[in-house]
Amino acid sequence: MNFDCIVIGGGHAGYEAALASSRMGLNTLFLTLNLDTIAQLSCNPSMGGLGKSQLIFEVDRLGGEIGYATDQTGIGFKMLNTKKGPAVWSLRTQIDRKRYRENIRKTVMNQKNLSVKQEEVTEIILEDENGSSFTKTQKRAGVNKKKAIGVRTRTRMDYFAKTIIVTTGTFLNGLIHIGLHHHSAGRMGELPSEKLSNSLQNIGFELGRLKTGTSPRVDGKTIDFSQTTTQLPDSNPANFSHLSKNFNPPKIACYITHTNQKTQELILSNLDRSPLYQGIISGIGPRYCPSIEDKCVKFKEKESHQVFIEPDGLDTDEYYLNGLATSLPADIQIKILHTIPGLKEVEIIRLGYGIEYDFVFPYQVYPTLETKRVENLFFAGQILGTSGYEEASAQGMIAGINAGLKVKKHAPFILKRDESYIGVLIDDLVTQDILEPYRMFTSRVERRLILRQDNASERLMKYGVKFGLVDKTYCEKMEEIKDKVKLKLKKFKSQRVAPEIINPILRKHKSAPVTQSITIFQILKRPEMKWKMIESIIEPLETEVSSKIELHAKYDGYIKREHELVKKVKSFENYKIPQEFDYLKVSGLSSEAYEKLSKIRPITIGQANRISGVRSADITRLLVALKSKALIN
Ligand SMILES: Cc1cc2nc3c(=O)[nH]c(=O)nc-3n(C[C@H](O)[C@H](O)[C@H](O)COP(=O)(O)OP(=O)(O)OC[C@H]3O[C@@H](n4cnc5c(N)ncnc54)[C@H](O)[C@@H]3O)c2cc1C
Repeated sequence: MNFDCIVIGGGHAGYEAALASSRMGLNTLFLTLNLDTIAQLSCNPSMGGLGKSQLIFEVDRLGGEIGYATDQTGIGFKMLNTKKGPAVWSLRTQIDRKRYRENIRKTVMNQKNLSVKQEEVTEIILEDENGSSFTKTQKRAGVNKKKAIGVRTRTRMDYFAKTIIVTTGTFLNGLIHIGLHHHSAGRMGELPSEKLSNSLQNIGFELGRLKTGTSPRVDGKTIDFSQTTTQLPDSNPANFSHLSKNFNPPKIACYITHTNQKTQELILSNLDRSPLYQGIISGIGPRYCPSIEDKCVKFKEKESHQVFIEPDGLDTDEYYLNGLATSLPADIQIKILHTIPGLKEVEIIRLGYGIEYDFVFPYQVYPTLETKRVENLFFAGQILGTSGYEEASAQGMIAGINAGLKVKKHAPFILKRDESYIGVLIDDLVTQDILEPYRMFTSRVERRLILRQDNASERLMKYGVKFGLVDKTYCEKMEEIKDKVKLKLKKFKSQRVAPEIINPILRKHKSAPVTQSITIFQILKRPEMKWKMIESIIEPLETEVSSKIELHAKYDGYIKREHELVKKVKSFENYKIPQEFDYLKVSGLSSEAYEKLSKIRPITIGQANRISGVRSADITRLLVALKSKALIN
């Protein structure tokens, strides 16, 4: 059977990749271990949050599915960081776990050009130089390999395609730990993927081992909510997707409680039963998302840690205890919970656990996510060392689009660092040493003032339209709003308000009164003044327009400076470095820079510049070497 594209794995990277490639017109085959777990949220039932919401907005504007499915199945939306500048505003929502799965599965099953099969892929089939396929045995016999042409399944079926995208998440040689016991699994209750890892290793990919963990889930009927603090979602929530209309999601609360000294003592006295502290888990876990045992050991002075009690869905009494990820034994897990207010009599439905899995060091892929070693083979998601649904979805989108472009023989699609969070994510992956699961933070983004969730449409929708993934009417609407904002901004920069009209409003909102007339723009520039406060003295505008005007007024100066800086950096950012370039020829290059550059093989000077251990002096020497060889002007 011949396809244009095969996507392996039904997680967040997989469904985005499969949908993008089939929507670009590629005859796509989607193979996954279990059809019923397509789009499973393996860990917490939530989407978005700091650094991650921007990824959802961006994937949505490129034509991906995560934003729309989140709007459809979210049950408690909240805009975070509103007290800080818009650069870090982040939308987050609780998700109905079951409905999210069902929603994506329905979309996938109804997608034109997309065939779905429940299969375990065990091997990547490569083409030899004469054009015929060969397998592992042939490879051992010394057959040279260059191109991926298909996959083999556990049922001994072979499927062939022009491009293959691997998105197997935590499943490669997955090993679950609860206390000192462990067993093979991809996720709790799901089979691991054991053979594919060998196939990738045999091809020559460098694989490593990472670890992540999840919290216990409990029966809501046994929680004493009166002992917790209620956290309500926004009453008038914002949504993620440009496709959502008449947005009015359920507004379900979360609850907050805290661990205490008793919890701490219990955990510290049971570390001899912790696989993490007994050296049984060798994979490296995420520093930013530590297990509760890690928090108690590393922050001994901190007696209390916050725990969010998050609803798992509308039709279930199950709650997820965010902040209590653990791989301690079952009897200790329940004792830990019983030390916490509100959870003193709680019953565990699903235990927390740790999981170790193989990943592919991401220096082995180009920014298109195609591998350097094997043509037409792409990786995306947790297999590349990331953690998180949003990070996986973003990579799936890029791999899917690039597979589409490759089959159509079009130029590849690479988002830049200064135009998107996705660009930052992928650039970091392909240039940095990934030693622990990578997740997105706003702090990783140099141009966060420019790359906001509110302007994702202006930045990226043009690409979605270009690839046929976004209807151009949305882009036209966005252009209309942009024009309107420009026009009104010009007007408000000259439209003045007399002191007798504005001063009562300024006084009411504790803003200094004026002695002479002031422009609308100047009023909005004041941090304490909001559009809503002066609405009564100006013409009414749609929220989409007024919010952008307010943002411009408050942050125009900073944004302009950011744009100037971006221009400067750009002047050398895109200088290309030939892939075969011999770094030994660069005189004076530090040995660390030599080692990193030769291993990672960045494709531009900009990428080389961001590799940790490569200093600016190394970059200058590299530029001189490239110039002397007339490789750049
Ligand atoms: C225990 C646990 C804890 C986690 N904790 C966090 C956390 O704290 N914070 C966070 O942000 N993220 C966390 N995650 C990670 C988050 O779930 C993932 O980052 C995200 O789901 C990755 O998406 P993915 O598409 O790469 O892979 P997954 O969602 O893992 O999907 C992989 C898919 O591939 C399929 N598959 C695997 N092997 C094969 C094969 N050989 N053939 C066919 N199909 C195959 C599987 O069936 C599955 O559908 C956790 C995950 C787990 C399991």
